[in-house]
Amino acid sequence: LRVALSPFQEAAASRRGVDARLSEITVDDLRRGLDSGEVYAAFQPKIDLATGKVTGCEALARWDSARFGPVGPDVFIPLAEQGGLIKAMTLRMLRDSMTFAASFLPTEPKFVVAVNLSASLLSDTSLPEEVERLLAEIGVPARSLMIEVTETTAMADVGRAMDVLLRLRLKGIGISMDDFGTGYSSLSALARMPFSELKIDRSFVKDCLTDADMWKIVSSSVAIAHQYNMKVVAEGIEDAATWHALDALGCDIGQGFEFSRALRSDAFVDWYRTWTARGPAVRGDAAIP
Ligand code: C2E
Ligand code: MG
Ligand code: MG
Ligand code: MG
Repeated sequence: LRVALSPFQEAAASRRGVDARLSEITVDDLRRGLDSGEVYAAFQPKIDLATGKVTGCEALARWDSARFGPVGPDVFIPLAEQGGLIKAMTLRMLRDSMTFAASFLPTEPKFVVAVNLSASLLSDTSLPEEVERLLAEIGVPARSLMIEVTETTAMADVGRAMDVLLRLRLKGIGISMDDFGTGYSSLSALARMPFSELKIDRSFVKDCLTDADMWKIVSSSVAIAHQYNMKVVAEGIEDAATWHALDALGCDIGQGFEFSRALRSDAFVDWYRTWTARGPAVRGDAAIP
């Protein structure tokens, strides 16, 4: 089975300048990468915008292939779905993420690790119990896990998604609506789904200080989230000015290169030590070295 890239994925791949190389990759390559440990979880910090404190992180899948070099998740996640590897990969991400959370909980009891869930797993009714068993085995509380689902994924088949998401939520696991604003969800559907967090997509955040339309989308998203008692996260914060403006707007949490890219677990721990050593006053201009 070869990768069948959609036009969108082709465009993304060629932007990365790797289109020729990526068209060679097969499901067997990915399976070998999974078995040999080339695929791993990297962690990107999530920051409380008002205090600068680390609230947790998002686990992002990485594949450093010996043969193809670094392959992006926008390429290998669809391949994992086509090749029937997505569940095994996600369970691995969950296991690595919860092991990582367990290592943080003694110093950061509220540390939450977020894991992305693909569409196909939202109709897998055995998933909530499997996740619960994994949490018990590793010994972390359900509140240390957040599941991220994209708006398009959750709303494609609201009834089926609702069953799995509600059962996860009732166990105490957080549910995050990822890439908010890029899909077509109705506000009434949003109100019925058990989301605890809303993530504003990077495409709206990146130019929000210079593009008035983007700012309006971001500020209305913050208002919507708070009206539904959800925390709101801005993705793709790349500079201190955007951080400060979003904090002033009332956005709760942020993620982006201003804080850090996704890092391997040991590099994350180093980053965390340096970040927290700067003290509580990391907010505002004090954050600029
Ligand atoms: P996402 O969940 O919306 O993840 C955020 C993406 O934005 C990540 O890209 C992250 O590296 C990138 N990002 C974060 N901050 C910034 C910033 O300040 N500037 C810029 N330019 N980019 C930033 P990544 O790692 O390439 O992941 C892309 C997508 O692949 C993710 O979007 C997610 O939908 C999917 N993905 C990643 N890992 C997994 C996984 O384990 N399972 C599933 N199902 N999907 C995954
Ligand atoms: Mg995500
Ligand atoms: Mg996202
Ligand atoms: Mg996004």
